[in-house]
Amino acid sequence: MTDMILLKEGEVVLKGLNKRAFEQKLLSNIRRRLKRFGRFEVIAHQSIIYVEPQSEDCDVDGAFEALKQVFGIMTMTRAAACEKTPEAILAKAKEYLHDELSAAKTFKVESRRGDKSFPMTSVQLSQYVGGELNDAFDNLTADMHQPEFTVQLEVRDRAAYVHGAPIEAAGGLPVGTAGAAVTLLSGGIDSPVSTWMMAKRGMRLIPVHFFSFPYTSQLAKQKVLDLAKLLVPWCGRMNVQIVPFTHIQEQIRDKCPEDYFTLIMRRMMMRIACAVAEDNKCGAIVTGESLGQVASQTMEAMAATEDCADRPVLRPLVGMDKKEVIAIAERIGTFQTSILPYEDCCTVFTPRHPCTHPKIKKVREAEAALDVDALVAEALAGIEFVKIGYEGVYHGGEL
Ligand code: ATP
Ligand code: MG
Repeated sequence: MTDMILLKEGEVVLKGLNKRAFEQKLLSNIRRRLKRFGRFEVIAHQSIIYVEPQSEDCDVDGAFEALKQVFGIMTMTRAAACEKTPEAILAKAKEYLHDELSAAKTFKVESRRGDKSFPMTSVQLSQYVGGELNDAFDNLTADMHQPEFTVQLEVRDRAAYVHGAPIEAAGGLPVGTAGAAVTLLSGGIDSPVSTWMMAKRGMRLIPVHFFSFPYTSQLAKQKVLDLAKLLVPWCGRMNVQIVPFTHIQEQIRDKCPEDYFTLIMRRMMMRIACAVAEDNKCGAIVTGESLGQVASQTMEAMAATEDCADRPVLRPLVGMDKKEVIAIAERIGTFQTSILPYEDCCTVFTPRHPCTHPKIKKVREAEAALDVDALVAEALAGIEFVKIGYEGVYHGGEL
Protein backbone atom coordinates (compact mmCIF):
# COMPACT_ATOMS: atom_id res chain seq x y z
CA MET A 1 0.00 0.00 0.00
CA THR A 2 1.96 3.03 -1.15
CA ASP A 3 -0.56 5.48 -2.55
CA MET A 4 -1.57 7.99 0.09
CA ILE A 5 -2.39 11.65 0.64
CA LEU A 6 -0.30 14.32 2.36
CA LEU A 7 -1.96 17.47 3.62
CA LYS A 8 -0.30 20.60 4.91
CA GLU A 9 -2.14 22.39 7.68
CA GLY A 10 -3.07 25.98 6.98
CA GLU A 11 -3.26 28.82 9.45
CA VAL A 12 -3.75 26.27 12.17
CA VAL A 13 -0.01 26.23 12.59
CA LEU A 14 -0.03 29.89 13.55
CA LYS A 15 -2.28 29.44 16.51
CA GLY A 16 0.36 28.77 19.15
CA LEU A 17 -1.20 27.39 22.29
CA ASN A 18 -4.48 26.63 20.55
CA LYS A 19 -2.69 24.58 17.96
CA ARG A 20 -3.58 21.25 19.52
CA ALA A 21 -7.29 21.99 19.71
CA PHE A 22 -7.28 23.28 16.14
CA GLU A 23 -5.43 20.25 14.91
CA GLN A 24 -7.75 17.84 16.71
CA LYS A 25 -10.74 19.56 15.16
CA LEU A 26 -9.20 19.41 11.71
CA LEU A 27 -8.40 15.71 12.14
CA SER A 28 -11.92 14.89 13.26
CA ASN A 29 -13.40 16.89 10.36
CA ILE A 30 -11.15 15.00 7.95
CA ARG A 31 -11.98 11.60 9.47
CA ARG A 32 -15.70 12.28 9.31
CA ARG A 33 -15.39 13.43 5.72
CA LEU A 34 -13.46 10.32 4.68
CA LYS A 35 -15.75 7.73 6.25
CA ARG A 36 -17.56 6.88 3.07
CA PHE A 37 -14.39 6.42 1.06
CA GLY A 38 -13.09 3.45 3.07
CA ARG A 39 -10.86 2.91 6.08
CA PHE A 40 -8.10 5.53 6.34
CA GLU A 41 -5.57 6.27 9.03
CA VAL A 42 -5.32 10.01 9.59
CA ILE A 43 -2.47 11.31 11.74
CA ALA A 44 -0.72 14.64 12.15
CA HIS A 45 2.96 15.17 12.64
CA GLN A 46 4.84 18.47 12.44
CA SER A 47 1.97 20.24 10.65
CA ILE A 48 1.69 17.52 8.00
CA ILE A 49 -1.35 15.26 7.97
CA TYR A 50 -0.82 11.76 6.66
CA VAL A 51 -3.87 10.08 5.17
CA GLU A 52 -3.18 6.43 4.52
CA PRO A 53 -5.65 3.90 3.13
CA GLN A 54 -5.92 0.82 5.32
CA SER A 55 -7.38 -1.58 2.80
CA GLU A 56 -7.29 -2.26 -0.92
CA ASP A 57 -10.86 -1.13 -1.54
CA CYS A 58 -10.33 2.45 -0.29
CA ASP A 59 -11.36 5.10 -2.81
CA VAL A 60 -8.25 7.31 -2.70
CA ASP A 61 -9.39 9.39 -5.71
CA GLY A 62 -12.71 10.11 -4.03
CA ALA A 63 -10.98 10.93 -0.77
CA PHE A 64 -8.61 13.35 -2.48
CA GLU A 65 -11.50 15.17 -4.19
CA ALA A 66 -13.46 15.36 -0.92
CA LEU A 67 -10.52 16.77 1.01
CA LYS A 68 -10.39 19.73 -1.38
CA GLN A 69 -13.49 20.97 0.44
CA VAL A 70 -12.18 20.71 3.99
CA PHE A 71 -11.20 24.05 5.52
CA GLY A 72 -7.93 24.23 7.44
CA ILE A 73 -5.86 22.46 4.79
CA MET A 74 -3.42 24.69 2.92
CA THR A 75 -1.93 22.39 0.28
CA MET A 76 -2.42 18.75 -0.63
CA THR A 77 -0.79 16.10 -2.74
CA ARG A 78 -0.95 12.43 -3.59
CA ALA A 79 2.21 10.67 -2.45
CA ALA A 80 3.83 7.25 -2.32
CA ALA A 81 5.38 5.88 0.83
CA CYS A 82 8.50 3.71 0.81
CA GLU A 83 11.28 2.39 2.97
CA LYS A 84 13.75 4.91 4.36
CA THR A 85 16.81 4.07 2.30
CA PRO A 86 18.25 6.18 -0.53
CA GLU A 87 17.87 3.25 -2.94
CA ALA A 88 14.22 2.61 -2.07
CA ILE A 89 13.45 6.32 -2.39
CA LEU A 90 15.09 6.49 -5.80
CA ALA A 91 13.26 3.39 -7.03
CA LYS A 92 9.96 4.75 -5.77
CA ALA A 93 10.54 8.14 -7.46
CA LYS A 94 11.27 6.41 -10.78
CA GLU A 95 8.18 4.27 -10.57
CA TYR A 96 5.65 6.63 -8.98
CA LEU A 97 6.59 9.77 -10.92
CA HIS A 98 7.41 7.96 -14.16
CA ASP A 99 4.84 9.78 -16.32
CA GLU A 100 5.72 13.26 -15.05
CA LEU A 101 9.45 12.61 -15.34
CA SER A 102 9.04 11.30 -18.89
CA ALA A 103 7.05 14.37 -19.97
CA ALA A 104 9.23 17.14 -18.45
CA LYS A 105 12.31 18.71 -19.99
CA THR A 106 13.73 20.25 -16.83
CA PHE A 107 13.46 19.13 -13.23
CA LYS A 108 14.89 19.38 -9.77
CA VAL A 109 14.70 17.36 -6.58
CA GLU A 110 13.82 18.87 -3.20
CA SER A 111 14.21 16.91 0.00
CA ARG A 112 13.15 17.41 3.59
CA ARG A 113 14.50 15.30 6.35
CA GLY A 114 12.38 15.08 9.50
CA ASP A 115 14.23 11.97 10.63
CA LYS A 116 17.72 13.11 11.54
CA SER A 117 19.01 9.54 11.79
CA PHE A 118 18.74 9.16 8.01
CA PRO A 119 22.28 8.61 6.69
CA MET A 120 22.26 11.50 4.15
CA THR A 121 21.54 15.21 4.59
CA SER A 122 18.65 16.53 2.56
CA VAL A 123 21.09 18.12 0.08
CA GLN A 124 22.93 14.83 -0.37
CA LEU A 125 19.68 12.95 -0.90
CA SER A 126 18.53 15.49 -3.53
CA GLN A 127 21.88 15.25 -5.31
CA TYR A 128 21.87 11.46 -5.27
CA VAL A 129 18.29 11.03 -6.50
CA GLY A 130 18.61 13.96 -8.96
CA GLY A 131 21.80 12.53 -10.48
CA GLU A 132 20.31 9.08 -10.89
CA LEU A 133 17.08 10.39 -12.43
CA ASN A 134 19.08 12.58 -14.81
CA ASP A 135 20.89 9.44 -16.00
CA ALA A 136 17.74 7.35 -16.19
CA PHE A 137 15.59 9.80 -18.20
CA ASP A 138 17.26 11.11 -21.37
CA ASN A 139 14.69 13.88 -21.74
CA LEU A 140 15.63 15.50 -18.41
CA THR A 141 18.06 18.30 -17.57
CA ALA A 142 18.49 19.63 -14.08
CA ASP A 143 17.31 23.21 -13.51
CA MET A 144 17.48 24.59 -9.99
CA HIS A 145 15.68 27.84 -10.75
CA GLN A 146 12.68 27.27 -13.00
CA PRO A 147 12.20 23.54 -13.32
CA GLU A 148 9.14 22.26 -15.14
CA PHE A 149 8.76 19.50 -12.59
CA THR A 150 9.92 19.22 -8.99
CA VAL A 151 10.36 15.84 -7.34
CA GLN A 152 9.70 16.16 -3.63
CA LEU A 153 11.12 13.73 -1.11
CA GLU A 154 10.29 13.69 2.57
CA VAL A 155 12.04 11.47 5.05
CA ARG A 156 9.80 11.29 8.11
CA ASP A 157 9.65 9.14 11.22
CA ARG A 158 7.54 6.33 9.84
CA ALA A 159 8.57 6.22 6.21
CA ALA A 160 9.88 8.21 3.28
CA TYR A 161 7.44 9.86 0.88
CA VAL A 162 7.76 10.74 -2.79
CA HIS A 163 5.49 13.21 -4.55
CA GLY A 164 5.18 15.96 -7.15
CA ALA A 165 4.03 19.55 -6.64
CA PRO A 166 1.22 19.97 -4.09
CA ILE A 167 -1.94 21.81 -5.13
CA GLU A 168 -3.70 24.61 -3.25
CA ALA A 169 -6.39 23.31 -0.92
CA ALA A 170 -9.37 25.09 0.63
CA GLY A 171 -7.34 27.12 3.16
CA GLY A 172 -9.13 28.83 6.03
CA LEU A 173 -9.70 27.39 9.49
CA PRO A 174 -11.30 24.08 10.50
CA VAL A 175 -15.08 24.37 10.80
CA GLY A 176 -16.00 24.40 14.46
CA THR A 177 -12.97 26.31 15.72
CA ALA A 178 -14.56 29.77 15.55
CA GLY A 179 -17.87 29.10 17.26
CA ALA A 180 -21.30 28.88 15.69
CA ALA A 181 -23.62 31.31 13.91
CA VAL A 182 -27.05 31.40 12.37
CA THR A 183 -26.80 32.07 8.63
CA LEU A 184 -29.76 33.53 6.76
CA LEU A 185 -30.04 31.37 3.68
CA SER A 186 -32.30 32.49 0.85
CA GLY A 187 -32.40 30.85 -2.54
CA GLY A 188 -30.28 33.62 -4.07
CA ILE A 189 -26.68 33.89 -5.18
CA ASP A 190 -25.33 35.80 -2.22
CA SER A 191 -26.26 33.94 0.94
CA PRO A 192 -24.70 30.58 -0.01
CA VAL A 193 -21.48 32.54 -0.61
CA SER A 194 -21.68 34.40 2.71
CA THR A 195 -22.34 31.08 4.44
CA TRP A 196 -19.32 29.54 2.75
CA MET A 197 -17.13 32.51 3.66
CA MET A 198 -17.86 32.24 7.37
CA ALA A 199 -17.40 28.45 7.32
CA LYS A 200 -14.01 29.18 5.78
CA ARG A 201 -13.14 31.18 8.87
CA GLY A 202 -13.99 28.21 11.08
CA MET A 203 -17.63 28.88 11.93
CA ARG A 204 -20.19 26.13 12.28
CA LEU A 205 -23.42 27.36 10.68
CA ILE A 206 -27.10 26.84 11.22
CA PRO A 207 -29.04 27.91 8.13
CA VAL A 208 -32.37 29.62 8.69
CA HIS A 209 -34.76 30.06 5.79
CA PHE A 210 -37.95 32.13 5.84
CA PHE A 211 -40.65 30.42 3.86
CA SER A 212 -43.84 32.12 2.71
CA PHE A 213 -46.00 29.32 1.37
CA PRO A 214 -48.08 29.59 -0.80
CA TYR A 215 -46.65 32.93 -1.98
CA THR A 216 -43.40 31.06 -2.47
CA SER A 217 -43.64 27.48 -3.69
CA GLN A 218 -42.43 24.13 -2.41
CA LEU A 219 -39.89 24.31 -5.22
CA ALA A 220 -38.40 27.45 -3.68
CA LYS A 221 -37.96 25.57 -0.42
CA GLN A 222 -36.45 22.60 -2.23
CA LYS A 223 -33.99 24.96 -3.89
CA VAL A 224 -32.77 26.20 -0.52
CA LEU A 225 -32.34 22.63 0.70
CA ASP A 226 -30.42 21.82 -2.48
CA LEU A 227 -28.14 24.78 -1.82
CA ALA A 228 -27.61 23.61 1.75
CA LYS A 229 -26.75 20.18 0.38
CA LEU A 230 -24.11 21.75 -1.87
CA LEU A 231 -22.69 23.60 1.13
CA VAL A 232 -22.44 20.53 3.40
CA PRO A 233 -19.12 19.29 1.96
CA TRP A 234 -17.65 22.67 2.93
CA CYS A 235 -19.59 23.42 6.11
CA GLY A 236 -20.15 19.94 7.54
CA ARG A 237 -23.55 18.49 8.39
CA MET A 238 -26.22 21.13 8.86
CA ASN A 239 -29.61 21.39 10.46
CA VAL A 240 -31.62 23.72 8.23
CA GLN A 241 -34.46 25.54 9.94
CA ILE A 242 -37.43 26.46 7.79
CA VAL A 243 -39.39 29.25 9.44
CA PRO A 244 -43.05 29.78 8.43
CA PHE A 245 -43.18 33.43 7.41
CA THR A 246 -46.51 33.81 5.64
CA HIS A 247 -48.55 35.11 8.57
CA ILE A 248 -45.91 37.70 9.42
CA GLN A 249 -45.81 38.97 5.85
CA GLU A 250 -49.60 39.17 5.66
CA GLN A 251 -49.75 41.05 8.93
CA ILE A 252 -47.12 43.51 7.69
CA ARG A 253 -49.10 43.97 4.45
CA ASP A 254 -52.34 44.53 6.33
CA LYS A 255 -51.12 46.74 9.16
CA CYS A 256 -48.00 48.66 8.15
CA PRO A 257 -47.26 51.50 5.71
CA GLU A 258 -46.20 50.10 2.35
CA ASP A 259 -42.89 51.98 2.05
CA TYR A 260 -41.69 50.16 5.15
CA PHE A 261 -42.79 46.60 4.22
CA THR A 262 -39.30 45.32 3.39
CA LEU A 263 -37.61 46.97 6.34
CA ILE A 264 -40.13 45.62 8.81
CA MET A 265 -39.95 42.20 7.24
CA ARG A 266 -36.18 42.21 7.64
CA ARG A 267 -36.48 43.30 11.26
CA MET A 268 -38.79 40.35 11.89
CA MET A 269 -36.27 38.05 10.23
CA MET A 270 -33.56 39.41 12.47
CA ARG A 271 -35.58 38.91 15.66
CA ILE A 272 -36.38 35.32 14.74
CA ALA A 273 -32.78 34.63 13.71
CA CYS A 274 -31.56 35.93 17.08
CA ALA A 275 -34.02 33.71 18.93
CA VAL A 276 -32.84 30.67 16.95
CA ALA A 277 -29.25 31.73 17.66
CA GLU A 278 -29.98 31.92 21.38
CA ASP A 279 -31.53 28.43 21.39
CA ASN A 280 -28.55 26.98 19.54
CA LYS A 281 -25.74 28.83 21.34
CA CYS A 282 -24.83 30.83 18.25
CA GLY A 283 -22.82 34.00 18.77
CA ALA A 284 -23.69 35.85 15.56
CA ILE A 285 -26.00 36.18 12.57
CA VAL A 286 -24.60 35.97 9.03
CA THR A 287 -26.29 37.56 6.01
CA GLY A 288 -25.46 37.89 2.32
CA GLU A 289 -26.00 41.64 2.24
CA SER A 290 -23.73 43.86 0.18
CA LEU A 291 -23.70 47.63 0.58
CA GLY A 292 -26.03 49.41 -1.83
CA GLN A 293 -27.03 46.29 -3.76
CA VAL A 294 -30.77 46.83 -3.20
CA ALA A 295 -32.96 49.31 -1.33
CA SER A 296 -32.79 47.30 1.90
CA GLN A 297 -29.01 47.23 1.84
CA THR A 298 -28.17 50.91 2.32
CA MET A 299 -26.28 51.79 5.46
CA GLU A 300 -29.42 53.21 7.09
CA ALA A 301 -31.48 50.15 6.15
CA MET A 302 -28.85 47.88 7.62
CA ALA A 303 -28.90 49.97 10.79
CA ALA A 304 -32.69 49.65 10.96
CA THR A 305 -32.40 45.86 10.71
CA GLU A 306 -29.56 45.60 13.15
CA ASP A 307 -31.63 47.60 15.64
CA CYS A 308 -33.46 44.30 16.33
CA ALA A 309 -30.37 42.15 16.73
CA ASP A 310 -28.94 41.27 20.11
CA ARG A 311 -25.66 39.90 18.73
CA PRO A 312 -23.21 40.77 15.94
CA VAL A 313 -24.52 40.69 12.37
CA LEU A 314 -21.72 39.52 10.09
CA ARG A 315 -21.93 40.52 6.43
CA PRO A 316 -18.92 38.99 4.70
CA LEU A 317 -20.01 40.31 1.27
CA VAL A 318 -20.56 43.88 2.38
CA GLY A 319 -17.73 45.31 0.26
CA MET A 320 -18.00 43.00 -2.72
CA ASP A 321 -19.34 43.57 -6.22
CA LYS A 322 -21.91 41.15 -7.58
CA LYS A 323 -19.31 39.98 -10.10
CA GLU A 324 -16.95 38.96 -7.34
CA VAL A 325 -19.71 37.13 -5.48
CA ILE A 326 -20.70 35.26 -8.64
CA ALA A 327 -17.10 34.21 -9.24
CA ILE A 328 -17.04 32.59 -5.78
CA ALA A 329 -20.49 31.04 -6.27
CA GLU A 330 -19.24 29.43 -9.47
CA ARG A 331 -16.07 28.19 -7.84
CA ILE A 332 -17.83 26.61 -4.86
CA GLY A 333 -20.56 25.07 -7.00
CA THR A 334 -23.71 26.93 -5.86
CA PHE A 335 -24.23 29.31 -8.79
CA GLN A 336 -26.17 27.03 -11.13
CA THR A 337 -28.66 26.17 -8.39
CA SER A 338 -28.93 29.78 -7.19
CA ILE A 339 -30.03 31.02 -10.60
CA LEU A 340 -32.95 28.60 -10.89
CA PRO A 341 -36.01 30.80 -11.20
CA TYR A 342 -37.91 30.32 -7.94
CA GLU A 343 -39.17 33.30 -6.04
CA ASP A 344 -38.02 34.37 -2.56
CA CYS A 345 -40.18 35.79 0.21
CA CYS A 346 -38.39 39.12 -0.27
CA THR A 347 -40.20 39.51 -3.57
CA VAL A 348 -43.63 38.98 -2.00
CA PHE A 349 -45.48 42.28 -1.35
CA THR A 350 -42.53 44.40 -2.49
CA PRO A 351 -43.25 48.11 -1.96
CA ARG A 352 -43.41 50.35 -5.04
CA HIS A 353 -41.28 53.01 -3.32
CA PRO A 354 -39.19 51.32 -0.64
CA CYS A 355 -37.76 53.65 1.97
CA THR A 356 -34.01 53.61 1.33
CA HIS A 357 -32.76 56.00 4.03
CA PRO A 358 -35.00 55.14 6.97
CA LYS A 359 -34.87 56.72 10.40
CA ILE A 360 -34.99 54.00 13.04
CA LYS A 361 -37.61 55.94 15.04
CA LYS A 362 -39.92 56.03 12.02
CA VAL A 363 -39.48 52.30 11.34
CA ARG A 364 -40.32 51.51 14.93
CA GLU A 365 -43.49 53.59 14.61
CA ALA A 366 -44.36 51.89 11.34
CA GLU A 367 -44.29 48.47 12.94
CA ALA A 368 -46.08 49.52 16.13
CA ALA A 369 -49.35 48.04 14.91
CA LEU A 370 -47.86 44.53 14.96
CA ASP A 371 -47.90 42.18 17.93
CA VAL A 372 -44.21 41.50 17.43
CA ASP A 373 -43.69 39.10 20.33
CA ALA A 374 -46.67 36.93 19.43
CA LEU A 375 -45.66 36.77 15.77
CA VAL A 376 -42.10 35.80 16.65
CA ALA A 377 -43.31 33.12 19.07
CA GLU A 378 -45.72 31.72 16.49
CA ALA A 379 -42.99 31.53 13.83
CA LEU A 380 -40.56 29.84 16.22
CA ALA A 381 -43.17 27.26 17.21
CA GLY A 382 -43.73 26.35 13.56
CA ILE A 383 -40.11 25.77 12.54
CA GLU A 384 -39.45 22.69 10.45
CA PHE A 385 -36.00 21.13 10.89
CA VAL A 386 -34.24 19.44 7.99
CA LYS A 387 -30.98 17.67 8.72
CA ILE A 388 -28.60 17.38 5.81
CA GLY A 389 -25.57 15.12 5.92
CA TYR A 390 -22.79 14.20 3.51
CA GLU A 391 -25.01 11.66 1.79
CA GLY A 392 -27.46 14.48 1.17
CA VAL A 393 -30.16 12.56 3.03
CA TYR A 394 -32.98 14.65 4.34
CA HIS A 395 -34.49 13.70 7.67
CA GLY A 396 -37.62 14.95 9.29
CA GLY A 397 -38.75 17.00 6.32
CA GLU A 398 -41.71 16.54 4.02
CA LEU A 399 -40.23 16.99 0.60
P1 ATP B 1 -29.45 36.55 -1.81
O1 ATP B 1 -28.84 36.42 -3.16
O2 ATP B 1 -28.63 35.90 -0.75
O3 ATP B 1 -30.89 36.13 -1.81
P2 ATP B 1 -30.18 39.24 -2.24
O4 ATP B 1 -29.19 39.99 -3.00
O5 ATP B 1 -31.34 38.67 -3.00
O6 ATP B 1 -29.43 38.08 -1.45
P3 ATP B 1 -32.01 40.22 -0.25
O7 ATP B 1 -33.09 39.43 -0.87
O8 ATP B 1 -32.25 41.64 0.11
O9 ATP B 1 -30.69 40.22 -1.11
O10 ATP B 1 -31.52 39.50 1.04
C1 ATP B 1 -30.41 39.91 1.77
C2 ATP B 1 -30.01 38.81 2.71
O11 ATP B 1 -31.10 38.50 3.60
C3 ATP B 1 -29.74 37.49 2.00
O12 ATP B 1 -28.42 37.43 1.52
C4 ATP B 1 -30.01 36.49 3.08
O13 ATP B 1 -28.91 36.42 3.97
C5 ATP B 1 -31.19 37.12 3.81
N1 ATP B 1 -32.46 36.61 3.26
C6 ATP B 1 -33.23 37.12 2.30
N2 ATP B 1 -34.34 36.38 2.08
C7 ATP B 1 -34.27 35.34 2.93
C8 ATP B 1 -35.08 34.20 3.21
N3 ATP B 1 -36.21 33.97 2.55
N4 ATP B 1 -34.69 33.36 4.16
C9 ATP B 1 -33.54 33.56 4.84
N5 ATP B 1 -32.73 34.61 4.63
C10 ATP B 1 -33.08 35.49 3.68
MG1 MG C 1 -32.66 37.26 -2.20
